[in-house]
Amino acid sequence: MPSNAADASAASADAPSRPPRGRYAPSPTGLLHVGNARTALAAWLSVRSRGGTFILRIEDIDRPRAVPGMAEAAVEDLAWLGLDWDEDPFKGGPFGPYTQSQRTEHYERALQILHEEGRLFPCRLSRKELAGIASAPHAGEEGPPYPASARPSQVAAGWYETLQRQKSPDAAIRFRVHDRPVRFVDRVHGSIEENVTDTVGDFVLKRRDGLYAYQLAVVVDDWLMEVDEVVRGADLLSSTARQIQLIEALGAPRPEYAHVPLVVAEDGARLSKRDGALTLRALRERGVRPEEVVGWMASSLGLLDRPARCTAAGLLNAFAWPRIPSSSSVASKELVPTF
Ligand code: GLU
Repeated sequence: MPSNAADASAASADAPSRPPRGRYAPSPTGLLHVGNARTALAAWLSVRSRGGTFILRIEDIDRPRAVPGMAEAAVEDLAWLGLDWDEDPFKGGPFGPYTQSQRTEHYERALQILHEEGRLFPCRLSRKELAGIASAPHAGEEGPPYPASARPSQVAAGWYETLQRQKSPDAAIRFRVHDRPVRFVDRVHGSIEENVTDTVGDFVLKRRDGLYAYQLAVVVDDWLMEVDEVVRGADLLSSTARQIQLIEALGAPRPEYAHVPLVVAEDGARLSKRDGALTLRALRERGVRPEEVVGWMASSLGLLDRPARCTAAGLLNAFAWPRIPSSSSVASKELVPTF
């Protein structure tokens, strides 16, 4: 790993001497909707209200699902909303590249560390069984836990090197989890405890078609980009214990976590990037002002009493994690503020 990574673990033991680093990390699978934007706003407010550095990372690790032009659209829409950032794929920065598909050498080095720690094993389950590994999982999308009984009791010496050399690998690579509770405190949801053995079991880090798992990529990127605060949607709360196991196995520092409640549609369903009417782009094209959208987001996050027009920067003083409710908010298709 680069020397900055090794230094990061040492530095985290001391009082932080540098401004905090936070990030927003969209997958470029569609246009950003108000739920994505609300998470981005919270991430931005949290780090900017403390004078920190904000990173925009594009998570296109699930290459088949990435839609051309969506990274550029995210940049444009977040800027329209009034957010700014210091490092991104287009302007670069000290820890680039900021696009996951260009970071495979880092994922390989992390796999090598985990292999040397004896935490990996080959898995020959079908492609169907391994589908969806590269995408950030959404609540309820994961199947039953991988049974510890399915672990190979022995692996052939040199399996890893042989597999990595194969042109068409005949196995995926799985991470052997420890059977013990992981505990962490989420800034919105409080104390969480999860034993990954019971919930997910040994999970895949690299599919046999060469795609890296979201869980691996996000942990490696946050580590090497020296991110101290992970802010993302609440649908990823259930990924955190897995990521902490990886962080510990890699010897990386653990960031703080805040999982922002989801915005749901009027029928209670999770908004998807296909909910066209609630994308920032659609609102903007209908003539809605960014201050109106920010006002709605701020009031639904408990930062304003009612949805009054305001800028993102105008919320910096009001921002505090304890104000943010842990329950979802409903966005109407007619999200045209009523003031
Ligand atoms: N790329 C993920 C998403 O768009 C977010 C991952 C993360 O922030 O850890 O759902």
